[in-house]
Amino acid sequence: MDINSTLVNTFRLVDTQKAGLKRLKIVTIGDLLYHFPFRYGDTAEIRSTDSAQDGEEGTFYCIVLKTEARKAWKSKVPMTEATLRDALNENSKIKAFWFNQPYITKMFPEGTLVRIQGKVSRKDKNPTLSNPKIEKVDKVPIAVGSSLFANSPDDKGENHNLFPVYPEAQGITSNWMYHAIVKIFKSGILEKLEDPIPNQILKKYNLPSLKTALIWIHTPLKEKDGESARKRFAFEEMFFIQLRKQKDKLLWKDQDAFIIDKSLDNIADFMERLPFKPTFAQEKAIRHILDDFKRGHPMSRLLEGDVGSGKTAVAAATAYAVITTARNAKQGPAGLQVAYMAPTEILAKQHYESFIKYFEHLKDQNVNIGLITGAGCRKFPSKIDPKSWTDISRTQLLKWVASGEIQVLIGTHALIQKTVQFKHLAFVIIDEQHRFGTGQRQKLTTKNHITPHLLSMTATPIPRTLALTIYGDLDLTLLDQMPAGRKPIITEIVTPNKRDDTYKEIRERLNEGRQLYVICPRIDEPDPLKALALNVKSVKEEAKRLKAKVFPEFQIAILHSKMKPDEKEVVMKDFTDGKTNILCATSVVEVGVNVPNATIIIIEGGERFGLAQLHQLRGRVVRSTHQAYCYVFADAKGQKTYDRLRALKQAKNGFELAEYDLAQRGAGELYGARQWGISDVAMEGIKNLKLVEAARTEALELVEKDSNFKNFPLIKERVESAAEAIHFE
Ligand code: ADP
Ligand code: MG
Repeated sequence: MDINSTLVNTFRLVDTQKAGLKRLKIVTIGDLLYHFPFRYGDTAEIRSTDSAQDGEEGTFYCIVLKTEARKAWKSKVPMTEATLRDALNENSKIKAFWFNQPYITKMFPEGTLVRIQGKVSRKDKNPTLSNPKIEKVDKVPIAVGSSLFANSPDDKGENHNLFPVYPEAQGITSNWMYHAIVKIFKSGILEKLEDPIPNQILKKYNLPSLKTALIWIHTPLKEKDGESARKRFAFEEMFFIQLRKQKDKLLWKDQDAFIIDKSLDNIADFMERLPFKPTFAQEKAIRHILDDFKRGHPMSRLLEGDVGSGKTAVAAATAYAVITTARNAKQGPAGLQVAYMAPTEILAKQHYESFIKYFEHLKDQNVNIGLITGAGCRKFPSKIDPKSWTDISRTQLLKWVASGEIQVLIGTHALIQKTVQFKHLAFVIIDEQHRFGTGQRQKLTTKNHITPHLLSMTATPIPRTLALTIYGDLDLTLLDQMPAGRKPIITEIVTPNKRDDTYKEIRERLNEGRQLYVICPRIDEPDPLKALALNVKSVKEEAKRLKAKVFPEFQIAILHSKMKPDEKEVVMKDFTDGKTNILCATSVVEVGVNVPNATIIIIEGGERFGLAQLHQLRGRVVRSTHQAYCYVFADAKGQKTYDRLRALKQAKNGFELAEYDLAQRGAGELYGARQWGISDVAMEGIKNLKLVEAARTEALELVEKDSNFKNFPLIKERVESAAEAIHFE
């Protein structure tokens, strides 16, 4: 057995276990060792069924006395009822019910010892659990207390009260994982493991070695040990992310780029033509970019700014600096080119229109602007009508891009196809960069022997520590200021007793002709399939309730992710055309089209969302001339929840809210956290600025000293093998 052995070949597994492991993406011994507990249960949590209170969450060890499958009395839904006896107390019984899980009778026959966990109801004589978690166990940990961790090497026979609780899948329980890991430990495999983190770094930050950390994370004797181990693994992951990012950055910065020697003064004519005065933040961003342009090496910068903060103008101003840079001998007869990639066709077309307005006056100097999307190509200006664009063939467009006659090319993914060859691509702008993978970015940027400057733009609000990690190869500029004169969205946090008054206010606006979004929460369910089902149900039910009890006089439609694309399209079109007044949708559904007349948004279950996500949701009503309103309905009782939500009324931008979320709710709650491909342990580490900075500093130092990792073969192997597997965007 070694770290790369598969579990299938090491353990005897039944099919449900194999399926469970597959679902958890655990294949090898190494995968299992790196599958960390998300918490440690304390044996003190184990309750006797006698003392369990009504409404309490409890974990019980019981023996199954009887199971019975039948149909529920009214609904006729198949249900299973079990009677269990407390393993710690002969005289104490508990009942449990499950709906739609008939297999339970087979899986837990009479006499089975189980661990059962759920919410206690004490309405009947015996305590009752409905839909509890149940798993078969070999022994009751409390009864054999001191042997639970007796196999840990540091065992001194004390403090045996923690047991690991892992992310589970059907067929694979925490209990199984724990015992498998103990067996792996016993095999002596840890002795052969080499630590990928250099020793002096571990010492410097007082981090445990790989071997110790593995033991501590799976079988901690003390809570503190578990924490140090988690810190080490968080560091490890961030360190390797940074090694890759810093290496990418080094390689990038080593290349040659066109020198664009322009200051703000040189583009003053462009700035004056803008129909508005740029914000201080926009000017600062433009200055950062112009400074980068002068260096002779390619820029790679990320511009972060809320929706509406004016990123396009920054892109246009800097693009202007590029296309007005005088041609020189090295560049040949054609000028420098700019490519602008947008995530959707609608956005690409929007940018195309804006850029035409921005650069119209340059058409006499042969500045042509092209558009390329899956749906077709355009060129500005048209020969027939120089004020407008014309449709052209793809072949023609590509020819002009290759010859340099098209100086600005805007498009979707179609931009990064092999057939698109530029003459002198000097500057690449990527809008909503997180939607493009690193690989795609690379494709766009390596079309020329001279590497273009790269500007990525994003509105996804993430905290700075996370940005430093996932965008470690980029320099950051934050647009932290909104254009003046923008009416802020009026945001109200609505307590249940104010609901009716709020509906009255909203009715007035609906009567004035405005439209309303009602967003229903994603219900946190460990099973994604169930989450989806619950989601759909809540949207449907809320729409029904609104129609029946609140807004009977208005047209209400629903939109959720289980609908077919053409169904969705019809719903969206009706809403855009004003045929429906109210759109009830899930938070996960992207309402793709911007409906300026929809100026009101209700967010149900506001307490379930992170602040940054609420901010993103309310952003749907921002672009309008009418005053916009956002009502966050919260059902929670606690004052703390309301205080937290109130931050929405004061925050300057989404990034500030993301910091709040991180500080108050933890990294797991960050908006879009799943899409970055970072493990939960590393996400916890994101909260720790010192740790993030340490990983970055050490990685940078190592890369600068030994960029090919000649002296660090383990690091080399890991960086290279992960390069393909990991995608952050
Ligand atoms: P983003 O891409 O950051 O979401 P946009 O670039 O689309 O935002 O800008 C949103 C709107 O704000 C556009 O209509 C733009 O013309 C306008 N705008 C940009 N900068 C300013 C400014 N400094 N003052 C006033 N309006 C601005
Ligand atoms: Mg934009």
